[in-house]
Amino acid sequence: MSFAASVLTLYPEMFPGALGLSLAGRALEAGTWSLEAIQIRDFATDKHRTVDDTPAGGGAGMVMRADVLAKAIDQASPPGDPRPRLLMSPRGKPLTQARVRQLADGPGAVILCGRFEGVDQRLIEARGLEEVSIGDFILSGGEPAALVLLDAVVRLLPGVMGNAVSGEEESFENGLLEHPHYTRPQEFEGLPIPEVLISGNHKKIVAWRRAEAEKLTRERRPDLPGVQPLVK
Ligand code: SAH
Repeated sequence: MSFAASVLTLYPEMFPGALGLSLAGRALEAGTWSLEAIQIRDFATDKHRTVDDTPAGGGAGMVMRADVLAKAIDQASPPGDPRPRLLMSPRGKPLTQARVRQLADGPGAVILCGRFEGVDQRLIEARGLEEVSIGDFILSGGEPAALVLLDAVVRLLPGVMGNAVSGEEESFENGLLEHPHYTRPQEFEGLPIPEVLISGNHKKIVAWRRAEAEKLTRERRPDLPGVQPLVK
């Protein structure tokens, strides 16, 4: 069973974009996942194919219309579609590796990309959209956010990453940031690779990496769950 992504957007040309290359691109070609980019404008009913209108109550910008978006969603995701319906939104729950993993374990996702000031609130409620943010900053549209989300999901699909183990050792998977990495040359601008890593002592290496990961996490991200209080 492959992961089926349907993206609703005013810019279908942005897809697969970066996801057509490298690991994700190869997996797309191999059928490990599928991607359908749907033009929201095709569901407009007037002759100008209008998808947005001025905000009720006044103010700057435009708002995407609930009626047009509902038609697009209902075609992409009819009742009974098991896939979660996501709305990329800076007001959403911040995306985490745990949610990414859940999505990768599921049948796919229907992803609505906002533009302008966002979408009519009634649409979010009427279609049960899960708002997802990729961080505390504002993009000009949901498309780059959808690409980010899909990139994170696709690399977890079975067979996409050559070395499946590396996925589980990654930052966030154990509630910690990852330890630092080194490779040849042995000496770079006078700096050697830490002694322990060339010791050949696997147990010591594991312990060193764990300690480095905890130190880094304590310094940079004390909010992460894997961080242990400093033993004095
Ligand atoms: N007026 C809105 C921002 C609209 S930005 C506000 O202040 O909350 C236009 C669109 O870009 C949004 O509808 C959303 O789909 C997308 N977007 C912007 N920033 C995002 C973020 N951090 N995460 C996910 N989507 C984002």
